[in-house]
Amino acid sequence: MTSFREFCRTCKVIEETAGSLDMTALVAELFSLVTSEELPVVTHFVMGEVFPAWSDEEVGLGTGILLNALSKSSGLPVKEIEDVVRETGDIGKTTVKVLGKISKGQATFSSFLDSPVELSIMEVYERFKDIAHATGKGSQTSRIKHLQYLFNSASAEDVGYIARLAIEDMRIGVGEGIVRDAIAKAFEVPVASVERGFMLTNDMGIVAVTAKEGGDEALLELGLQIGRPIKLMLAQVTPDIETAIRELGVVAAEWKFDGARVQIHKKGDEVILYSRRLENITGSLPDIVSSVKRAVKADSAILDGEAVAIDENGRPKPFQEILKRLRRKHDVQNKVRHIPLILNLFDIMYLDGESLIELPLQKRREFLVASVENDDLVRVDSQLITSDLSQIENMYEQALSAGHEGIMIKNPASPYSPGKRGKNWLKKKPVMETLDLVVIGAEWGYGRRTSFLGSYALACHDPDTGQFLPVGKVATGISDEQLAELTEMFREHVISGSGTSVEIRPHILFEVAFEEIQKSTNYESGYALRFPRLVRVRDDKSLEEVDTLERLEDMYRTQRK
Ligand code: ATP
Repeated sequence: MTSFREFCRTCKVIEETAGSLDMTALVAELFSLVTSEELPVVTHFVMGEVFPAWSDEEVGLGTGILLNALSKSSGLPVKEIEDVVRETGDIGKTTVKVLGKISKGQATFSSFLDSPVELSIMEVYERFKDIAHATGKGSQTSRIKHLQYLFNSASAEDVGYIARLAIEDMRIGVGEGIVRDAIAKAFEVPVASVERGFMLTNDMGIVAVTAKEGGDEALLELGLQIGRPIKLMLAQVTPDIETAIRELGVVAAEWKFDGARVQIHKKGDEVILYSRRLENITGSLPDIVSSVKRAVKADSAILDGEAVAIDENGRPKPFQEILKRLRRKHDVQNKVRHIPLILNLFDIMYLDGESLIELPLQKRREFLVASVENDDLVRVDSQLITSDLSQIENMYEQALSAGHEGIMIKNPASPYSPGKRGKNWLKKKPVMETLDLVVIGAEWGYGRRTSFLGSYALACHDPDTGQFLPVGKVATGISDEQLAELTEMFREHVISGSGTSVEIRPHILFEVAFEEIQKSTNYESGYALRFPRLVRVRDDKSLEEVDTLERLEDMYRTQRK
């Protein structure tokens, strides 16, 4: 059994290491040290996750509860702790400082046990599980108690990592890229096999254990599984239809429906629905569940589609309407009556025990058509296979006049590539290109906006290090009403603040439009946005979907051409 101490010691060294090769070596060493039971947990912990992103479990602790627990453990008032957060700018350092003070005997009791129990990694994990499972009346109190237990049992230097895990923000610079390479290094398997395994399971923990126990051979046997969502295949923007035809030759063109993406898993009579963030949203969409049961004839299948909310005239309702519905757990039945949803299916990844993702789109499409009986509420919509510009332009116009977003232009010979935003799926829509960036800070307004957070600091993502790199601020495109909503939304995620500006835990994405991307030394990313404006809050997107530094670089280059 490995102690949590051991884990933290490595984290500390990683935190002080700059080069990604050295970091990889340290993570690899940690991976080879721990038992098979601990390995998946450690794999997620180093990336600042307690549970895999796809799982139904989530810690769900806001900074509020954390500060509360810290206050209880230390005997210091929350206000005082907030001051420390302001000073250190980090919840981990704050925790070490606040609890350290107490152990030096400044308070009436010591927060650390006289002879600290040797907390194991698994014990920490189990406690977080208890926290995640606490529901209903009294759950707040019990969550705080579990946290206190962890704070009191960890050694003085390690409490900071407990706090960081609690808000799932490790800040040691380890992301998927480093974990992938570390698994390959630790268990002597090819990086490509790790990558493939991750693509199919969407879980580095499973990949790590498989590599450890069965090597490359076992990795190659990993496959799709009903009940474990896979990452979605994504699209790139094409400037115009002609370019798409030039790039792909014969294309498969489909309407780009304006709705919400759903990944559907069906096995016998059981149907599970996952959102674009791969959250289980089965409970919010009972009508889609029954539509799938009725129309999908396959015994077991994994399908990809877009749920569209339609009005009395059969036109799609604004995207935000659907999001509202997805968020609303209660009152589901009532909403079903008010916003009927149509399911448009466009891909199939798994059918009756077999993975289809390596087959060409055209072949998958045949399986899709054969597995679904179209009706009023479910359809495999029409697809055009052609290289004829005018036919596709026609389709584009029809899609737009029906109120949809535009069209998708796909490579009919391409496999389904989970998590990839490549050239095999192109999208054409009339609006300009936007970026999805994560909010990492904000400023309190002035004048009539004093009680609102505005001017949001935005960051892009560096997947190798897992870091979010600032690219500028957005203050336009936000109505007063929206400001109030956003302020409420961000309150839970404020990490620290001094004066008028606050640091915000990366959690919520903004889709922003802008005039131009510029090189800039003002921001860590090396880029800045000219005239950015908020298009919408993308709460359907997860942190992994924050646009990458690479995409910014690409856009910068294309725009210069
Ligand atoms: P956007 O903001 O343009 O929807 P996105 O980042 O959410 O972009 P992309 O993968 O870039 O997602 O664009 C494709 C999106 O379009 C899918 O996520 C899906 O929700 C939607 N969509 C609608 N119709 C289709 C279709 N026929 N095939 C694939 N995706 C479709």
